[in-house]
Parts: sequence; C-alpha cells; structure tokens
Amino acid sequence: MSQIAENIQSIRRRMEQAALDAGVDAGRVQLCAATKMNDAEAVKQAVIGGVDCCGENRVQELLAKQPLGAYEGRPVHFIGHLQTNKVKQVVGKVELIQSVDRQELLECIDRTARRKGLRQDILLEVNIGGEESKSGFTPEQAMEMAAKIGEFPGVFLKGLMAIPPISKKRGDNCRYFQKMHNLFVDISGKKYDNVSMVCLSMGMSDDFEDAIAEGSTMIRVGTAIFGPRNYQK
Ligand SMILES: *Cc1c(COP(=O)(O)O)cnc(C)c1O
Repeated sequence: MSQIAENIQSIRRRMEQAALDAGVDAGRVQLCAATKMNDAEAVKQAVIGGVDCCGENRVQELLAKQPLGAYEGRPVHFIGHLQTNKVKQVVGKVELIQSVDRQELLECIDRTARRKGLRQDILLEVNIGGEESKSGFTPEQAMEMAAKIGEFPGVFLKGLMAIPPISKKRGDNCRYFQKMHNLFVDISGKKYDNVSMVCLSMGMSDDFEDAIAEGSTMIRVGTAIFGPRNYQK
C-alpha cells in the first residue's frame, strides 16, 4: 500500500474515534484531500486511498491536473481564494466552490453559471476568527447573504466553510468551530430559496478531531495525507 493510502487509513481511524468520542455519526463526516502543491500522481494515490473528494486551491493547478485524470472517480472542489477574472475557468468544472468569500465573487459566479446554463453549488466562507489577513464573510454577513441567495439563481448554497486561526494546541479552535456550527444550525433552520445546508466544511490536519467534535461534516486535510508541502519547488 502507498504511504498516502496508509496515511488516509490512519486519518479514517482518527476520524472514527473523534466521532465516537463526540457521539456523532462517523459516516456523515467526509474527507476532502487538500491537494495543493501535490502532483496528479499523488492526487490519484489519494483517490485510490479512499478520500471522498479533492480540493484545489489554485485555478492553474486545477486546470493542469484535471486533464491528467487526477481526480477521476471522485468529485473535485475549489477551496482557495478565487479571483473574479478566473471564475469562468472554474464554474461547471468543479462540483462545489467552497471558498465564496465575498459578495462580488458570488455575483460573478452567479452570472457565469447562468451564462453557461447551469447552477453552481457553493459554500460561503466565513472569517470566523475575524482575522485581518483573511477574507470571508462575518457571521452576520453570511446570515444576510444566505437570506438573499434566492436572488441568484445561478448558485445553490450547500453550507459553510471556515479556516480558523492556526491552532497551537488541541482545543484552541473549539470555540470557532462551535460558532460555525451555531451559524450553520441557524441558517439551516430558515427556509431560504436555493439553500440546502448539508455541508459544514471545517477542520484541517492539526485540528480535525476538534472540528468533528463540534459538528464538522467535511474536513479538508493536506499535510496529514501527503506529508509536508515543499514550498521550494
Ligand atoms: C492547505 C489547505 C488545507 C489543508 O491544510 P493542512 O494543514 O495541510 O491539512 C485545508 N483547507 C484549505 C483551504 C487549504 O488551503
């Protein structure tokens, strides 16, 4: 078995344990491979290893790996910062755009999808740590945005995504995950048009167990699957 497949097995065991400890259904938590800076061959290994989906950060990498069949057999998501001038290269090419972090981007995705005659599934990215350096809606803005998604027939809202501050130790991010879960439940309780809240995407290599304990339905894991990224390359 490849190292990548072994890593995925061990992550699956940790996911199950975290779900068991928290008393949540392990089957409802999906594993998304965060594939940035890993080549098509490594991504294929992750697909064979049994991840539920792949998430790309950069349009260039998506467009390079997709023709090589990197994601074949699994859906691919977009999870990185998306410039509006690249939207047309992504809409319809991915199952889900997780990183819709501003209204301007949402409007652009909506226009592009309608022009292509399709409807793009999206998540709203929430800047739950209120960090200067990060984009994303505030929880209040996300609530308002969800309420008016019906005005944008080119998109369909499937849930929320968050990248909380880097955690230094186990438990650091629990409060952010809790806030996200509360917001997710609040929006789920409303009956907005073009909204079906099924995905709460949060938790990465260093904190996915806490995210699962707080109600994550999708963790996005890079390093723990592929090993450290080589930023020198
Ligand atoms: C890189 C990345 C991840 C995974 O990070 P790791 O710490 O390597 O697991 C998850 N989500 C997003 C949006 C990322 O860019």
